[in-house]
Amino acid sequence: MIKTDILIIGAGPVGLFTVFEAGLMKLKCHLIDAIPQVGGQLSEIYPKKPIYDIPGFPSILAGELVHNLMEQAAPFKPTFTLGERAETIKKQEDGSFIVTTSEGTKHQAPVVIIAGGLGSFEPRKPLIDSLASFEKRGVEYMVREPETFLGKKIFISGGGDSALDWAIYFAEHNNSKVGLIHRSESFRAHKDSLEKVKQLEKENKIELFTLAEVVGLRGQNDLESIEIKQKGKENSWFDTDCWLPLFGLSPKLGPIADWGLDIEKNAIKVDHTLDYQTTVPGIFAVGDVNTYPGKLKLILCGFHEATLAVQTAYKIIHPEKRFTLKYTTVQGIQGFDE
Ligand SMILES: Cc1cc2nc3c(=O)[nH]c(=O)nc-3n(C[C@H](O)[C@H](O)[C@H](O)COP(=O)(O)OP(=O)(O)OC[C@H]3O[C@@H](n4cnc5c(N)ncnc54)[C@H](O)[C@@H]3O)c2cc1C
Repeated sequence: MIKTDILIIGAGPVGLFTVFEAGLMKLKCHLIDAIPQVGGQLSEIYPKKPIYDIPGFPSILAGELVHNLMEQAAPFKPTFTLGERAETIKKQEDGSFIVTTSEGTKHQAPVVIIAGGLGSFEPRKPLIDSLASFEKRGVEYMVREPETFLGKKIFISGGGDSALDWAIYFAEHNNSKVGLIHRSESFRAHKDSLEKVKQLEKENKIELFTLAEVVGLRGQNDLESIEIKQKGKENSWFDTDCWLPLFGLSPKLGPIADWGLDIEKNAIKVDHTLDYQTTVPGIFAVGDVNTYPGKLKLILCGFHEATLAVQTAYKIIHPEKRFTLKYTTVQGIQGFDE
């Protein structure tokens, strides 16, 4: 049994910052995450994308922000259960909670803070018979390490920001032309990105296929070619090393949806004005996973929510004590010995 003061479900940016704020109040945290790395969406979806709305950082790469959050949390010695999904929660007679993961690891804490973001997210997959046999063999739904794609022939499908951003990135960083395939003639992506794609098409660095879709895949073991069906043309096969169908992610709250909390549109309802506590006392929800009137799914909003949540968490854990908030400039950072 892993015991801690605050058990955080989700090691995304908001979960990581919760460790820091809790640490300032001398509360120890343990984090559980279903994926084997920390950073949530920032590490999983867009580690190399710059973020422009983190206060004090005019621009910072998502991966760098995760690194900094880990560094900021380090004095408070957080511990982790990674690569395991929190499955069940049970309230004990003493008011504490026991959370058990998919691997059977048990955790006990008087306070649980859910920072589960979009939950466990699944890519939207196209309906092609042989798709599964080429996954990780040329078909990828996310770009984690762009370097691994360099020097390869790439086709990308999709009309949103992710598809266009990566098409632009590879057109600018690769020697071979990038194929961009989209079902419609209109794009959901940002206008600037579309203008850039058109420019790169003129420069012969992107080949644009509109009113088109991939309908077949071929290869001995790894993907070798894709079949494109385009309105008004015969279907054609194109040689390629990889195909990235970037149709977005469909968020699934997963097991948390069955924890008896008040759920609205795939998010947990919280008491927004006070402390982001859920309808179950002792369980809080911060970051993308919660909802309340005026909610914005932004990292900085999650940071604020976590800061308020730990104030009430302190009162639950130490009902006999009073905590006086002092600026870090006054009291400094007093980390934990172990
Ligand atoms: C392409 C893109 C660009 C973005 N750009 C910006 C931007 O510029 N500025 C900005 O402020 N925001 C941006 N966002 C939004 C931002 O990424 C989110 O607001 C942020 O990630 C929310 O952080 P979080 O910690 O709440 O959740 P997440 O980052 O989603 O992390 C949640 C973690 O919880 C884990 N989890 C979920 N359920 C369980 C479970 N049952 N058991 C164990 N672990 C679980 C997940 O695996 C995940 O790692 C962007 C998002 C995307 C997709």
